[in-house]
Amino acid sequence: MTAVRVQIRLEGLVQGVGFRPFVHALAVRLGLGGWVSNSGEGVIAEVEGDAERVQEFLTAVEREAPPLALIERLSSHEVSARGETSFQIVPSTLGAERATLVSPDVATCEDCLRELFDPTDRRFGYPFINCTNCGPRFTIVQDVPYDRAATTMAAFTMCADCAREYHDPADRRFHAQPVACPVCGPRLVLLDADGHSVHGDPMARAAALIRAGGVVAVKGLGGYHLAVDATSEPAVAGLRARKHREEKPFAVMAPDLPAVRRLARLEPDEERLLTSPRRPIVLLERRPEAEVTSATAPGNRALGIMLPYTPVHHLLMRELGVPVVLTSGNLSDEPIVYRDDEAKERLRGIADGFLTHDRPIHIRTDDSVVRLFRGTPMPVRRSRGYAPQPIRLARQVSRPVLACGAELKNTICLAKGRHAFVSHHIGDLENYEAFRSFTEAIAHFQRLFDVRPELVAYDLHPEYLSTKWALDQDGLDLVGVQHHHAHAASCLADNGEEGPVIAVIFDGLGYGTDGTLWGGEFLVASVAGFERAGHLVPVPMPGGAAAIREPWRMAAVYLERAFERDPPPLAVKGRHEAQWKAILELARSGSQAPLSSSMGRLFDAVSALLDVRDAVSYEGQAAIELEQLADPAASGTYDAQLTPTAAGFVVDGAGPVRAIVEEIRRGLDRSVIAGRFHNAVADLIVQGCRALRERSGLGTVALSGGVFQNVLLLGRAIDRLEASGFRVLRHRQVPPNDGGISLGQAVVAGCSLASDR
Ligand code: ZN
Ligand code: ZN
Ligand code: FE
Repeated sequence: MTAVRVQIRLEGLVQGVGFRPFVHALAVRLGLGGWVSNSGEGVIAEVEGDAERVQEFLTAVEREAPPLALIERLSSHEVSARGETSFQIVPSTLGAERATLVSPDVATCEDCLRELFDPTDRRFGYPFINCTNCGPRFTIVQDVPYDRAATTMAAFTMCADCAREYHDPADRRFHAQPVACPVCGPRLVLLDADGHSVHGDPMARAAALIRAGGVVAVKGLGGYHLAVDATSEPAVAGLRARKHREEKPFAVMAPDLPAVRRLARLEPDEERLLTSPRRPIVLLERRPEAEVTSATAPGNRALGIMLPYTPVHHLLMRELGVPVVLTSGNLSDEPIVYRDDEAKERLRGIADGFLTHDRPIHIRTDDSVVRLFRGTPMPVRRSRGYAPQPIRLARQVSRPVLACGAELKNTICLAKGRHAFVSHHIGDLENYEAFRSFTEAIAHFQRLFDVRPELVAYDLHPEYLSTKWALDQDGLDLVGVQHHHAHAASCLADNGEEGPVIAVIFDGLGYGTDGTLWGGEFLVASVAGFERAGHLVPVPMPGGAAAIREPWRMAAVYLERAFERDPPPLAVKGRHEAQWKAILELARSGSQAPLSSSMGRLFDAVSALLDVRDAVSYEGQAAIELEQLADPAASGTYDAQLTPTAAGFVVDGAGPVRAIVEEIRRGLDRSVIAGRFHNAVADLIVQGCRALRERSGLGTVALSGGVFQNVLLLGRAIDRLEASGFRVLRHRQVPPNDGGISLGQAVVAGCSLASDR
């Protein structure tokens, strides 16, 4: 029997996830000799032995890979045998190019949890327990290669016990960079409201403070959260008052799965997502009897719930036993606080105590928010646990690209080769802190992924700070990407496709190529280009941004449009009688009433007409509450007329508004009207797509834009499109909202120059 020797190269997410010990164990199990090592490109190994066993190894290395690993490419070739019979892990060989991936942060694994609550374990009750399979990653990494010295754990010198585990290939903590224990690792402290440390057991004292109705700032993986007892009305209402957050829903952390089931209905897919190593906030249907105070998510049938994902959370939740509101540590819309000194400063007056520690957070990362749609995740906010895992592109970008994203819900994206690294959620750039995060994220991602962008993609809106920043970049090629084209390309890239497709892009607002604001768009689009084929008839937004904050203004505009001089008396008009005429005059003023074809604004108008919302305290609130009001069983619809144009068609939102007003006057139940309005929008989508299919021959539809976070609408649209023979693409990896814009910009820019050359 002659021995065979094979060299194997593995690329993808294969470092910092326990890959080498896995390969070591597998080779030993199969009786093979050789070695394994980290390289600049990933993992490289050579195995030698019986041909059949070597073959078995090649199959198993992919099939049995550690849970956190993501093999993107495996190549192998035979080399000459050397008679090696023992297997070892050898030191890293660093390649010239860094192509390795950085792992997202990973929730505490089952093995670590068992040790955490095992009184005989040396890490019993230690709030920073972790191993190769779990723990902080992205939030502590300062540089690559991923090594302890390049993380915020560098300052902690391992004790002899930890070092032994770290160097033992058979140990679960072999090369786990954040490995630590009570002897050598980070320590937990409780500080009072003034930042002075409090004596006693920090965990027990923090729990007592929360139980007594206090607000405790808890340092997590990517920043500080604020925690209060979710079952206490005064505690939650008090937090709202201190944070200046009126109605935007708070997320809740539940102690365990049974506690989640008491709060919300839970499908098996949702349970899997909740308990996954990514541990996002999952939007669930709240039980009417759920034991959380109404101030947690006022007027909302959904509840954002997550399970503990760090040892600190596990210990705290076990101590408390009740669900807590766990919301970003910040003031209203500022980004989450993550540095210890800024926490003490910015959360002063909000937090009654700080449960904190001395392991620095390198990069601010919010919790991810995901909703399940027909068994598939639909990200609402893609951040902790997901970033910086790349999106794999359908084809290589022509040159390295930096895409600067939009203004709200900003993310940035760096693309190189077939990888698009979409950043964590950065936030609303109008905020100075968020803008600083934006520039820091750009620098950090360039370093981590060794991308030197040659192209910079930006939104066409001249007032976006991301756009202004992009236009200041000297010496790089700039590519402006229209907002809704970016949404369409984002949906294509999300699905590994390039188009052309019919793209239905419904959102709040985006800058159009004609200088008006778009948002109810039917495009014929590919990553290479687009044509605006259909859209809502633009209407004025009286007062501009004020019309976004006060949806009743859009109701006034649409009512006048639908009924001209003679609008019927409606409740919404009664509530705003004093301002009604002035607002309509403002609407005619031109300069202070920008024109917009936004579908989001039509949802706003209908929301006000149905007495759901006259004013909003957070983005999208009126549309969210309209979706919740809608009776999903409502049949019937409202006609919208497509008016043909040279490019395709336009459709007037006043049509459905007229029908809605008639039904209001007949006294039809508001929830039925809201349901029929959703049907009407879905029917409009199908009608528009049919018209464009006739012109273009295209049979695939991409749905994107913030309006498609509305799952009632999304479901109706998909059903009706599929019944009409369309294939439908929707978002699965990045959000349909502006959080996905940077990905779309990157692929558009990455392909634009490819076709020029
Ligand atoms: Zn672990
Ligand atoms: Zn130690
Ligand atoms: Fe948008």
